[in-house]
Amino acid sequence: MTGRAPVIGLALPALAVGVRHAFPTLTTRRPSGSVRPRYAGQGRPGGVALTFDDGPDPKGTPAVLEFLDARGWRATFFLLGSQVRRHPQVARSIAAAGHEIAVHGYEHRNHLARSASWVRRDLRAAREEIAAATGMQPRWVRPPYGVLSAGTLAAAKELQLTPVLWTAWGRDWEAGPADTVMAHLRRALRDGGTILLHDSDCTSRPGSWRSTVGALPLLAADMTRRQLVVRALDEHLGGGR
Ligand SMILES: [Zn+2]
Repeated sequence: MTGRAPVIGLALPALAVGVRHAFPTLTTRRPSGSVRPRYAGQGRPGGVALTFDDGPDPKGTPAVLEFLDARGWRATFFLLGSQVRRHPQVARSIAAAGHEIAVHGYEHRNHLARSASWVRRDLRAAREEIAAATGMQPRWVRPPYGVLSAGTLAAAKELQLTPVLWTAWGRDWEAGPADTVMAHLRRALRDGGTILLHDSDCTSRPGSWRSTVGALPLLAADMTRRQLVVRALDEHLGGGR
């Protein structure tokens, strides 16, 4: 994870989100490219991993959990420490339903704009807040906007968290129609890929979680048609639950 050139800005699609939300000047400086497979969440064939960022959220998370329960799907939730502090019982409900818990950060900040020590403090605080609320020790980290800075990688190594980004996203933060979210997913989603959606609108357009929830039945139909199972990252990337 270390010992190679800094991977600052390696996550181009992710960076585009960061750009949209906070750093409009960064995009034009980035060369085009793609997420390195090592961090993209490319897993075993025969299925895809389903992941949600930015929760827990008192409105979005229960709606997502209800669908997952009805469908019998397990997913991975990349939680924000700041949201866990506000809604610890919602964080607990995710873990209690058998889903996997992971670290998104404490604050939703672009790590490229922060010092290595800030990033380390943020991820450590997030891990502690999440573990205290859920009783689970997270294994994965996905920094805000998918921006992996050299500081992110160093902190992840120190905290024994493995970075995982995604291979397909629904751009659900735009709060568009569900079939648009599904169209974005379909464009990039391949066997063994990892899906990024959001169970919270705390960093995006108000009510955008409704687009997410609306897209889930469409995803289910697509997965059935393609005969792919949906699973959490622990099962997808190996190492078991
Ligand atoms: Zn996020």
